[in-house]
Amino acid sequence: MAKKGQRARTFVELAAEPTWSQTAAARTGAHAVRPGAVNAAGEFFDPDGRRLTLVDGDLGPAQAQRAVDAGALVVAECCGCGGGSRGCTPVWLDARQVGSLRGGAPPVFTGRHRAPTWLELWTGPETDVVFTHGDVSWGGTALG
Ligand SMILES: [Zn+2]
Repeated sequence: MAKKGQRARTFVELAAEPTWSQTAAARTGAHAVRPGAVNAAGEFFDPDGRRLTLVDGDLGPAQAQRAVDAGALVVAECCGCGGGSRGCTPVWLDARQVGSLRGGAPPVFTGRHRAPTWLELWTGPETDVVFTHGDVSWGGTALG
């Protein structure tokens, strides 16, 4: 029964309705959406819960820099576990941190903790993502 005073919903209210990725069905099981992390099925998501696709599992530092210069986000896991569901929690650089890397020097593999170290390029509906693993320093700061 319609409540007194009910009115047609505005576009803004409709746009605020949960998307599929926020429904209960997407929160359980191996394929559960894990914003900013990897689920048990190995699917990787950006911080807004949008699924990402691996483009390059062995990205070079110069390519990583070009991706960031072009607007890619950066996420890091520093132990070299790969960031899977049983590994550590990947840390996303905020907009200011990523902005400070644009136009700078490419990332450096430091070998500091002898962690397995590599770079990956992922892509999603909104943006590309550089995923750094292990002992990576970028813009003069150790990531992870
Ligand atoms: Zn790790």
